[in-house]
Amino acid sequence: NRYIYTFEEGGKEMANLLGGKGAGLAEMKKLGLNVPDGFIITTKACIAYQKSNKMPEGLNDSIKENMKVLEKKTGKGFGSDKNPLLVSVRSGAPISMPGMMDTILNVGLNDRSLKGLTESTKNRRFALDSYRRLKQMFGTVVYNLPHDEFEEIIQEKKEKYGRKNDTDLKADELEEIGKEFDEVYKKHGKTFPQDPEKQLFLSIEAVFNSWNSPRAIAYREINKISNDLGTAVNIVSMVFGNTGNNSATGVAFTRNPNTGEKELFGEYLLNAQGEDVVAGIRTPRKISELEKQLPDAYRDFVKSAEILEKNYRDMQDMEFTIENGKFFMLQTRNGKRSARATVRIAVEMAKEGLITMEEAVLRVSPESLDILFHPQVKKSGKERVLGHGLAASPGAAIGQIVFSSDRAVELSRNKVKVILVRPETTADDVRGMSVSEGFLTQKGGMTSHAAVVSRAMGKPAVVGVESMKVNVRERSLTIDGTILREGDIITVDGTNGEFLLGVTDLEESQVGEHIEVLLKWSDTYRKLGIRSNANTPEEAIIARRNGGEGIGLARTERMFLGGDRIEIMRSMIMSKNAEDRQFNLTKLLPMQISDFTEFFRTMEGFPVIIRLLDPPLHEFLPDKEEVLNRIYSLKIKMIKANELKEIDELMTGINRENEMLGVIRSLEEFNPMLGFRGCRLGISFPEIYETQVRAIIRAAINVMSEGKKIIPEIMIPLVGTERELSILRERLEKVALDEKGHYNISYKFGTMIEIPRACVVADKIAAYADFFSFGTNDLTQMTFGYSRDDAEGKFMAKYLEEKIVPNDPFRTVDAEGVGELMKMAVERGRKGNKNLEIGICGEQGGDPETIEFCHKIGLDYVSASPYRIPIARLSAARAAL
Ligand code: PEP
Ligand code: MG
Repeated sequence: NRYIYTFEEGGKEMANLLGGKGAGLAEMKKLGLNVPDGFIITTKACIAYQKSNKMPEGLNDSIKENMKVLEKKTGKGFGSDKNPLLVSVRSGAPISMPGMMDTILNVGLNDRSLKGLTESTKNRRFALDSYRRLKQMFGTVVYNLPHDEFEEIIQEKKEKYGRKNDTDLKADELEEIGKEFDEVYKKHGKTFPQDPEKQLFLSIEAVFNSWNSPRAIAYREINKISNDLGTAVNIVSMVFGNTGNNSATGVAFTRNPNTGEKELFGEYLLNAQGEDVVAGIRTPRKISELEKQLPDAYRDFVKSAEILEKNYRDMQDMEFTIENGKFFMLQTRNGKRSARATVRIAVEMAKEGLITMEEAVLRVSPESLDILFHPQVKKSGKERVLGHGLAASPGAAIGQIVFSSDRAVELSRNKVKVILVRPETTADDVRGMSVSEGFLTQKGGMTSHAAVVSRAMGKPAVVGVESMKVNVRERSLTIDGTILREGDIITVDGTNGEFLLGVTDLEESQVGEHIEVLLKWSDTYRKLGIRSNANTPEEAIIARRNGGEGIGLARTERMFLGGDRIEIMRSMIMSKNAEDRQFNLTKLLPMQISDFTEFFRTMEGFPVIIRLLDPPLHEFLPDKEEVLNRIYSLKIKMIKANELKEIDELMTGINRENEMLGVIRSLEEFNPMLGFRGCRLGISFPEIYETQVRAIIRAAINVMSEGKKIIPEIMIPLVGTERELSILRERLEKVALDEKGHYNISYKFGTMIEIPRACVVADKIAAYADFFSFGTNDLTQMTFGYSRDDAEGKFMAKYLEEKIVPNDPFRTVDAEGVGELMKMAVERGRKGNKNLEIGICGEQGGDPETIEFCHKIGLDYVSASPYRIPIARLSAARAAL
């Protein structure tokens, strides 16, 4: 059972065993970069420790042996009063969990080695500063001593001696601080251990334990990371960025993580140690300034960054330290980035030849495109911009401000949209961030916690609004004399780095050139066609613009809802006989023709599926209560009326409303979603579908005479038996032939597959269908027996929490159940008609996982809502690769 590897023995492919950081350090050693010496305690050791709650057998001895080797390599002695070896004890899980786990620096310093460090560096101030840092970190991490008590002491000393920054403190003052730190230990019944080995072992255990800290567990839960991975522990010989102005420490990315632009992007601080940059104590400088301040080290850095990016074939997020002008790499990993940057980096890397086009397509998660197509703030000039900060994560978010994660969680339970406002965020805020629309912070830079997390979550954020004062206790913020309190509404514009008062108009985002390229590449790989669900000509236009290749579902009922149409529709429903019905339908005919004509024009050259009327008719009638109220108020007027003519008119009104009430009552069903709808209506009231088919064919003729090619596909909803379709097809085909006359138009007849029975007898149904389109909304409803209108609001959250269903089946097709039925329908359907065209038009058609499934079972296309078409194009390509 081997628990330890030296850096020379590992490599990047060993991240599971050595953790991300350890594997990276080993890889960098292999690449010949300047990395401090050290060794890695494996994740296996951590797992063994968690199981038995003590250091696994033999580990302590191995650590001691490896420390000996490290002493030899560095020529220093652990705890020595001459040239002491100091190490950092760093956590490093297989999957990066930024800031979630602990790290302790300067381990090995004690009163004795302090002398050694002072002498070997000839820098007493530096040695004392390192020592107080160790006491502080060790105390908080190992013994859980309150961080604030240490900070208060530093603060006091700074005030007492009139020092502005920590770095201004003099050696004697730091010595005083160190002594007072000992008192903090004492106050809590502890002592700082002078034995370096004890420091080391306790630190290692503390890092092991931090794997199960509440915030680490919460982070893993949110990010779906397994609890069984464990963390590795890296023991790294210390190099110092805080020996003076010839030293520095910083973090940087090989490309801009916000825009994706190819440039070294990051921050550093002269004369500082790692945690200073992240903690935001001093404002860090931009990496480009390093070229002037420490040119040799900068050159080394640029070279190392290039080597790393080539080797990892991805954008790297690096930590470095410069000790007396000498450059060291401390960490590298694939960097987190905004959705926009993800696309640009993937496309540019493919163009540079660093990765293939296929890899570029596989690197962009389809869901991440969502925010790129997301709205941005649309300025009219009337908005009140409250403040400016850094544009940390793009997009616009609107919500009520809250000042703590707890409040964010609390309010979001009631579906309140919140913006989390904090002085700065820490790992403890991740839960609150996950329920907020966007973030606003007073402090921090582009690599601060808030910035990194917001980009990863794809939520808008503005950070570092220095002119703002956040008062967490009073739940308020002040900026330029304006005070906002919890519940006030703001807009966070993460694209421009501003925040504005109140609700702001939003506009569709300008989609960049890189995404166009990526989607074009995707189109060459995908096998699935991509159509759009569109209910109005306007939606059809967006669908075309986003690359939709036709309409997979136009729900005609949506056309009857507006203006006078609804009135005609109501008269049609209330018709007493077929003649009456036909009369009203004829009034609707020109309106339908013009709608369809618009559709066909927009979709020139592409297929358009028009679905005949589907919902139960009562959906077009007013609410019963509403009608009762109207009758009541008409009756009141009647009592007050005295003119005969007026009474007459009121009487007619009452009669009409009563009639309406009668129809509503007669249409009332116990379970309308399983009731009188879809083809059942079509069979019972032939005139409705006949009129719709007339309209479709006439519109097609209109558009054809404009010289445009179109392919109407007429779709019958809710078919469960072959007879339903055969009867309707025969009837409607006659109408179509009649309307078509001498015009040479082709059209198709097909059906939705949304009733489980239809899947089973798909072969028989297919004999009468040119195409199938899976209506997975109804198919899911009927397969599970979950009401599609109630499940999500009532019990789905609980079902997901209890893992009764792995996903909401109304968002992602349930492959195991509903999916099996679909497979059956595809196989049997194609047996019944080998030219059958098959697609999906339920909501799930825009979901990446569902699209992958549809690709697998051999559908011809998916149909998604207009805004999700880019996601669908990319998903379909990824499914094919
Ligand atoms: C479906 O049932 O999946 C479907 C697309 O039709 P509707 O949602 O209109 O019932
Ligand atoms: Mg349906």
